[in-house]
Amino acid sequence: MAKEKMTPSIDPAACYVLDIADMMGISTAFSRAADHKPCTIGNGQSGICCKNCYMGPCRITKDGQVGICGATLETIAARNLARAIAAGAAAHSDHGRDLAFTLDAVAKGEAQGYEVRDVAKLLAVAAKHGIPTKDRDLNEITQDIATKAISEFGQQRGELSYVATAPEQRQKIWRELKVAPRGIDREVVEILHRTHVGDDQDASHIMMAAVRTALSDGWGGSMWATDISDILFGTPSPVVGQVNLGVLKDDEVNIIVHGHEPTLSEMIVTAVQDPELIEYAHNKGANGINLSGICCTANEIMMRQGIPSAGNFLHQELALLTGAVEAMVVDVQCIMQALPSVAEHFHTEIITTSPKVKIKGATHIEFDEHHAMDIAKQIVRRAIDNYPNRGKTDIPQIRENMVPGFSHEYIAYMQGGMYRASFRPLNDAIAAGRIRGVAAVVGCNNPGTTQDKVHMDIIAEFLKNDVLVVSTGCGAIAAGKYGYLLGEAGKEKVGAGLREVCEAIGIPPVLHMGSCVDNSRILTVLTQMATEGGLGDDVSDIPAVGLAPEWMSEKALSIATYCVASGAYIIMGVRSPVAFSEELNRLMSEDWEAQMGGKLEFVPDAAEVVRHSLEHIDKKRAALKLAPYEPKRHGASGDVPLEAYFELPLEQQMAELYG
Ligand code: SF4
Ligand code: SF4
Repeated sequence: MAKEKMTPSIDPAACYVLDIADMMGISTAFSRAADHKPCTIGNGQSGICCKNCYMGPCRITKDGQVGICGATLETIAARNLARAIAAGAAAHSDHGRDLAFTLDAVAKGEAQGYEVRDVAKLLAVAAKHGIPTKDRDLNEITQDIATKAISEFGQQRGELSYVATAPEQRQKIWRELKVAPRGIDREVVEILHRTHVGDDQDASHIMMAAVRTALSDGWGGSMWATDISDILFGTPSPVVGQVNLGVLKDDEVNIIVHGHEPTLSEMIVTAVQDPELIEYAHNKGANGINLSGICCTANEIMMRQGIPSAGNFLHQELALLTGAVEAMVVDVQCIMQALPSVAEHFHTEIITTSPKVKIKGATHIEFDEHHAMDIAKQIVRRAIDNYPNRGKTDIPQIRENMVPGFSHEYIAYMQGGMYRASFRPLNDAIAAGRIRGVAAVVGCNNPGTTQDKVHMDIIAEFLKNDVLVVSTGCGAIAAGKYGYLLGEAGKEKVGAGLREVCEAIGIPPVLHMGSCVDNSRILTVLTQMATEGGLGDDVSDIPAVGLAPEWMSEKALSIATYCVASGAYIIMGVRSPVAFSEELNRLMSEDWEAQMGGKLEFVPDAAEVVRHSLEHIDKKRAALKLAPYEPKRHGASGDVPLEAYFELPLEQQMAELYG
């Protein structure tokens, strides 16, 4: 049967460039996905496949069938899912490890161009891990934090130190279930061991180990990554940025940084401002150097430096199709192997930089934090040298302003200032019903669904229903593209109660909280809401949901699992990787809810996702004995027209709000 034609994207910039791809006969992830016939057994829709030994592979396509070794459908489904969760946890955490190594090099005075930019965060992180700070040299504290972080990857016994920062009730649940994570590497290795042929063969037991591994990501590797990034590059606070392909410039050298790690991209941010390199660009006929980002590298440098984002995951090939990119500099994760073959139609050079990632057809310039600035300048110079090779360009003039940078520290600060920073006003607004609940809408793009559509349909409904939305990763970039990361979004799209809160505090109705590893910031927000009081004692008491409606990466599975284990209701879109196993789906939903207060479900349809979410939020409100949500009860107090404010230039709006 012919595949039904799907609209590739709701983003006009993406559609514009996809027409160029069609005209030039260049394939993209969109066209490849349209032509692709996925194996329905491999993706869990009509069966399950096990490749864990060479007696197989074994395909299980009906209930009761077993593999050659006797493995059942549930065991195989659990093993496959556990391995995917471990791969996601490994990717996030290895990123955290590299940041810890950079911090270690900073403490030793060996990291060219890096320094501790956020001393307050350094001291806060030290306090969290019991590292003394009084009368100590900053370098010594930095060294102790780096040593502690590095040690937690190889730790063999005991709990990771972030476990003690979770709500007390949550820690108790983890200890009772024996899922409090030990060393980060140990948990990943143990999943590989347990899922080897002839090992753990009880689906629920395998999945509990997967929970512990995911927790070593959320409350380990990712949390370290976020905290160390803040120490090195500054804790984010709101800045003005721009997003979409229209941020590329026709008359300047365009460099795009893509991937996940802020270490090299932060150095490139500095290098492109070097007067010598700017002069060099002028000598080559360009009016300047224009840096932008894709995926989570974009989030990292936008929320700290205001560097624009050329788009989310599915924009990586599209940016090249404008013909205006001199160099795309990639590091790790979410980088398509197709990039060099798209680039070869243009003058663009793809530059790989991580010792862990090489792509055939790309130039490899290996990053080393000991010589970071030299390497960054070498890359920028190379891009400038490529500018005269540029041919015809076609950049869609579509971009949107956005205000990212809502770290948990800033969210607390904005609710009480320097002396009364807290989550009390947010909790009170939820208790009063001005805000019905909170939703984290995060995660990837997936060409199996119309780009950004499910994200936007869900966000639009939540805002109308007075649900405050926080976002990270490519979901946050999507929200930015359609204007949801601006205060103005409140004027027409937001329910009266939520609008009242947003306007009183001066925030957009969707808060951009960072990159994929920064989902750990959301855990911290939920923890602070739980410990603030008024909304129960644990994350599972809070009227909140977490969604990844267009997910595609194994990291998303790890994030979902550690959020469930932290007490959240998580819904993922697209389709279930274990759809064929009713038992496993029930285990992750009903059993996990009974054991951990959180549950994981897979629901592709946006309207259904909203329905499930609002039901859950209202159920939690009722359990807390809060007044039932009434849409018309709030919104009148101080409701004066803000047109004059919104007519100010964005920079001035920011100055009015944030000083
Ligand atoms: S582990 Fe068992 S089910 Fe998997 S491939 Fe080997 S024999 Fe088949
Ligand atoms: S949200 Fe998904 S696609 Fe985007 S950078 Fe993160 S893992 Fe990659």
